[in-house]
Amino acid sequence: MPHLLDGKKVAQKLKDQLKIEIENIKIKFDRVPGLAVVQVGNVAASSVYVKAKTKAAKDVGINVFDHHLEETINQSDLINLINQLNNNKDVDGILVQLPLPNTINEEVVLNSILPEKDADGFHPLNVGKLSISQMNDENLMIPCTPYGCLLLLRELNIDLVGKNAVVIGRSNIVGKPMAQLLLKESCTVTTVHSKTENIESICRNADILVAAIGKPEFVNKDWIKKGSIIIDVGINRIKVNEAKSKLVGDVMFEEVKDKCHAITPVPGGVGPMTIACLLRNTTIALKKKLEI
Ligand code: NAP
Repeated sequence: MPHLLDGKKVAQKLKDQLKIEIENIKIKFDRVPGLAVVQVGNVAASSVYVKAKTKAAKDVGINVFDHHLEETINQSDLINLINQLNNNKDVDGILVQLPLPNTINEEVVLNSILPEKDADGFHPLNVGKLSISQMNDENLMIPCTPYGCLLLLRELNIDLVGKNAVVIGRSNIVGKPMAQLLLKESCTVTTVHSKTENIESICRNADILVAAIGKPEFVNKDWIKKGSIIIDVGINRIKVNEAKSKLVGDVMFEEVKDKCHAITPVPGGVGPMTIACLLRNTTIALKKKLEI
């Protein structure tokens, strides 16, 4: 069996550390981090994520300001709300759950969040800092999913320097920031996507393979280098039979597991790390405000 990168366990460790940190901030400054969670409409998956994020935030002592809006809300009203949250001194982090309805321009909305309250790390200023800053992790608002992947890699205690890393996917929320983070770790990074030629042979050279595609069990054992590390970001629900469905990743776990050195399970791998990293960003936002 390969080494299973247990995201639940690592996320719990991070949440335990944050809880203690938040208790100490409360004692010293009479203040806890505040996270505004904005959901528009009722997409089922979004409701599940929002519920999980809200619960996890409360568990570590973060104040949650819940804003669940009608699907029919227009863009300027949503931006008005974000401006209010930007000006609210008790709100340190703002999360707008994606996707937004088609009538709303996601980019405009995400850019209206103050960079210092950008709990998801999607604002252009934070994206830019991730790509050019020499600052260490503690001072950066980093997109939660790729940062969670990096924390899982660090759990293996292996030297990442010079490793061949291949990221499948180039989305703004996973693929691109993942590539930046691996580059910062001095990996040799290749990003592949739907237009890449010879994708399998590129992946077969990867010491570290991160799959963020959104296609169930797309990567099979022929794509994998023996002894490599596989981070499966994908969350795909597939039908088992008429009555039952299950979650699978972008990687064919059963086929790949005997060929790789380490792999993240789905569920229970990257998913819990994404939530823990959101809590981390919110806590960092307050610490920066308090200059600690
Ligand atoms: P996305 O925005 O749809 O991006 C998917 C990427 O995969 C695109 O860059 C696309 O290439 C590439 N792609 C699609 N088909 C491909 C193919 N046949 N060969 C190679 N590349 C291909 O998705 P995302 O938001 O990055 O999410 C990816 C997956 O991660 C989804 O399953 C999502 O549910 C999951 N996810 C999980 C978490 C978590 O917490 N675990 C968080 C976020 C996302 P092009 O750019 O050329 O179209």
